[in-house]
Amino acid sequence: MAEIFHTKSEEETIAAGERLAHALPSRAVVLLIGNLGAGKTTLAKGIVKGLGAADPDEVSSPTFTLIHEYGTKPKVYHIDLYRLEHAREVQTLGLDEIFDRNAVVLIEWGERFPQLLPAERIEISIEAMEEDSRRIEVLFRGSQP
Ligand code: ADP
Ligand code: MG
Repeated sequence: MAEIFHTKSEEETIAAGERLAHALPSRAVVLLIGNLGAGKTTLAKGIVKGLGAADPDEVSSPTFTLIHEYGTKPKVYHIDLYRLEHAREVQTLGLDEIFDRNAVVLIEWGERFPQLLPAERIEISIEAMEEDSRRIEVLFRGSQP
């Protein structure tokens, strides 16, 4: 089941993230897929806001810190694997343990390590169109019987 929408500004992408947050199960692994500057972190801000876990201004890119944690119920993890090259480096983060928690886990650049991801996951692909417009596609994987 795929859903596609378009946004025309950073604010619209944050708003889209807020709406998406309400469609997420309380426990979910969400891949944010797209080039640098596509809007992955921006969408994460909206999702974190929509879940009531933090204000968008408090959400920054975990490019260097690798994992940020927000809120309590639900807890949101925001992970960026951009700087990691090898699956064994990723394995040291203990993702399996995080996936087992009752939490929403947002991952940028996670598609580079498919073997480390649960089959049941949500893939959100963001593509920069012209200037400030973005095409956002949401795909629920592995959850259909
Ligand atoms: P990523 O995490 O994918 O590298 P960011 O979310 O950090 O991307 O950055 C997206 C950049 O694109 C920001 O500078 C933002 O202001 C800009 N931008 C322009 N239009 C949009 C849009 N429609 N949605 C999201 N970001 C947009
Ligand atoms: Mg980012």
